[in-house]
Amino acid sequence: MAEASKRPIVILGPMESESAWLVDQLENRQDKSVGAYTFREGFIDGYPVVICRCYIGVVNSAAATALVIERYDPLCVIIQGTSGAHDPDLHQGDIVLGESIVELGSHYTKHRGKGEGSDIFGWTQPGAEMSIDGELRRVSVLRSDSRILSVADNVPYTDGIVKRGTIGAADIWNRELDVIAHLRRNLGTDCEEMEGFGVAQVCSQSGVPCADIRVISNSEWHPQEEFNEKYGEQCQMFVLQVIRRLIAEGSLL
Ligand code: SAH
Repeated sequence: MAEASKRPIVILGPMESESAWLVDQLENRQDKSVGAYTFREGFIDGYPVVICRCYIGVVNSAAATALVIERYDPLCVIIQGTSGAHDPDLHQGDIVLGESIVELGSHYTKHRGKGEGSDIFGWTQPGAEMSIDGELRRVSVLRSDSRILSVADNVPYTDGIVKRGTIGAADIWNRELDVIAHLRRNLGTDCEEMEGFGVAQVCSQSGVPCADIRVISNSEWHPQEEFNEKYGEQCQMFVLQVIRRLIAEGSLL
């Protein structure tokens, strides 16, 4: 029986190829638009689920997250989709469960004079200003909810490995291997994408459990592994199993 009164599980996917397959799995679907974003409300196994194509980038995904939290008081928010590998051992189809989500998009640079060029490897990361327990702090690492990741750990998956790791996020697509290696060395990133930190920042300021789950869709370490949007569907299939188990096990209730 559908239980509309329960707090919904919210799933965000930036692109059509990262959200449409899950939308098709909803029972009794109704669409509601708020500004640029459309929230697809429905049920999975009788439990309310809202799916939103949040569009690419930290600003879009953060705005969509703020709206869903205000509107739905969700049980949790899962941001999911494609990502580029920083770990050379990861390949297309592998899944990273974002135990840590790090910000790659805020930088302070040291003064250099005219004609002195740039030194990206000397840039520092101040972190995002966040209000935590009433205090303003700079934060550059956030965490997915451990209960959601424990459920995801047990989802059977045959199209690659599933590992817990560190996901970096910013509005940047890094293709320079020296930069990728530098980020991995300094921040421990396993992969990168463009939304996770914004979603996690808004969720953690509002006390909403969230998780970032990503499939590897491209890797600069392996030139034949160019971006392919079909992996977006693979991630949604994995996330559907996570949703089903969260509902069946009542893990967040
Ligand atoms: N052809 C598309 C590709 C956009 S990809 C276009 O140009 O419109 C951007 C999306 O893919 C983001 O939502 C991001 O989260 C994800 N992504 C996949 N691989 C990435 C990578 N290597 N770096 C950054 N974002 C990546």
